[in-house]
Amino acid sequence: MNDIDFECTACGKCCHDLRLPLTLAEASDWLARGAKMELLCEAIPWPVDPAPGDELAEYRKVRSSPAMSGTLPVRISITLAGAFTGPCPNLGADMRCGIYEDRPRVCRIYPAEINPFVTLATANKECPPEAWQGKPLQRQGVLVDDTTRRLIGESRRANQDEAVLRMQLCEALGLNRAALANEGFVMHTPDSGALLAAIQQVRANPRTVGSGAAQWTFVSNRATTLDALRSVEASSEPDQPETTGSFRYLGFFPAAA
Ligand code: SF4
Ligand code: SF4
Repeated sequence: MNDIDFECTACGKCCHDLRLPLTLAEASDWLARGAKMELLCEAIPWPVDPAPGDELAEYRKVRSSPAMSGTLPVRISITLAGAFTGPCPNLGADMRCGIYEDRPRVCRIYPAEINPFVTLATANKECPPEAWQGKPLQRQGVLVDDTTRRLIGESRRANQDEAVLRMQLCEALGLNRAALANEGFVMHTPDSGALLAAIQQVRANPRTVGSGAAQWTFVSNRATTLDALRSVEASSEPDQPETTGSFRYLGFFPAAA
C-alpha cells in the first residue's frame, strides 16, 4: 500500500514493551525521572570503507564510530534505549502519556519509520484499524506529513551527530563488548546514577572526533561466528549467560555449535 492516512486514536498500544532510542538529552531526562536505560551495542567489521554510492553502508557509517577488535578495524553502533517491559513508566491508567509535551522524539514520529531503508507497513504497527484514516501520512510511498518529515530529519541528524558522543560515553563507563551486527546486541545496563553522571560529563566536554583506537570484544553464541572472528584476528568471546554480570548478549538466533 503506497498511500497511507493516519490519525492517532490515543489507544496507548504503542507504549508497551519497548526499547526507545533516545538522544543524550532525552536519556538524561529519562534517567532523571527514575526510568531504566540500556546501551545496545553491535559491531560491524570494517576493514575498508565501502565504495562510493553504497548508501546503506554510508548510513551505517555515519551512525557508528570507528574502533578496533584485535587487529580488525570495526565500527561500533551504540543505541541509548529507554527500556521497559509492559506499559511505559510514563503511561497513565487512561492510556495518556504523562509527559506528552516532553515525550521523546521517537514517540512523536511513530508510526512512521526513521530508517530510510525500512518501508512503513501498517501490518507491523500497533495502531488499530480505525487509526489508518484521517490526515495524509504517505502518498505513493513518500511521507507527506510535514511535521513527521521534520522530526525524522531531526532524529537522523541527532543520531549522526551523537555517534562520537555515544562512543565517548561507553569509554567513560568502560563498556567494550558488542555483538556482531545483524546477529544480535550486547545490552549493557550500567548503574543509573553512574550513567546519568557520565552523560552529563560527555555533554559538558563533547568530543568532535573519535580516536578509533578503543579495543572492543565481540560476543556471540555461535561457534561458527567465533571461528570466523578468530580467523581475522578479532577479539571475541562466547556468550556465557551465567557469568556476564553487567551485560547480556541478546542474540537473534539460537545458540549453535
Ligand atoms: S514516553 Fe509517552 S508516548 Fe512515549 S512510550 Fe512512554 S507513554 Fe508512550
Ligand atoms: S498505537 Fe497508534 S493509534 Fe495507538 S496511541 Fe500509538 S500511535 Fe496512536
